[in-house]
Amino acid sequence: MRQKIVAGNWKMHKNAEQTEDLLNELIAEIPTESDTQVIVAPTFVNLASAVDHLEFISIDVAAQNMHQAESGAFTGEISAEMLTNIGVKIVILGHSERRALFHETDALIANKVSTALAHEMKVIFCFGEELKDRQKQQHFNVVQNQLHDGLFHIEDAAWKNIILAYEPVWAIGTGETASAEQAQEMHGFIREIIRKNFGATIAEDVSILYGGSVKPENASEIFSKPDVDGGLIGGAALNAADFLAIINAI
Ligand code: PGA
Repeated sequence: MRQKIVAGNWKMHKNAEQTEDLLNELIAEIPTESDTQVIVAPTFVNLASAVDHLEFISIDVAAQNMHQAESGAFTGEISAEMLTNIGVKIVILGHSERRALFHETDALIANKVSTALAHEMKVIFCFGEELKDRQKQQHFNVVQNQLHDGLFHIEDAAWKNIILAYEPVWAIGTGETASAEQAQEMHGFIREIIRKNFGATIAEDVSILYGGSVKPENASEIFSKPDVDGGLIGGAALNAADFLAIINAI
């Protein structure tokens, strides 16, 4: 059975107090007997307190980004070692906002993936086409290239540390969700290219999350699809009731 996962990407939201409040609300209601892995990704400055706060709770903490170098003169950046040193073992890489607003290329993301894996971190690898790609019927090509150029350099053994997050850019923060059929169609395609490149076992075992305007109202339908193993949630992860409803929808 593939791991079911619901991850909340808090982006640049929630100061220290708000982080603690939201974590407390989640802790109070989180299902205890669940097979679903729950992950939250607060901002860098609140990661250490989140790890401390969740020490005895089955909610894992992820960073939203990191630098590819081990250390050095990179003003404003955070290394893998700094993250693991405070107990953060998961990192989101390749988010579309990093790609679009901070000009992260597939090659850069590939380097970050290698660094994270070298530090035994789990990577939530994000990718997905833009609206113009889908309009031109290029969405499968774009997704295949992003996977190929950003991820497929890894060794077979590293796949146990990879979580995929397919996030069509046109559905992120727009209120526009891919239909459950569109999500399944792409997730099935993704699993098939992994099978071709890395074999059936790796393809069957890797969790593929869907991201892009997942809400309590649409979560069950999206999660009901056979190749959708959970979600990467933005806006709806900032509210405990909504995030818990999405976790319970799986
Ligand atoms: P959204 O964001 O749920 O607000 O669309 C998803 C994401 O960016 O990961």
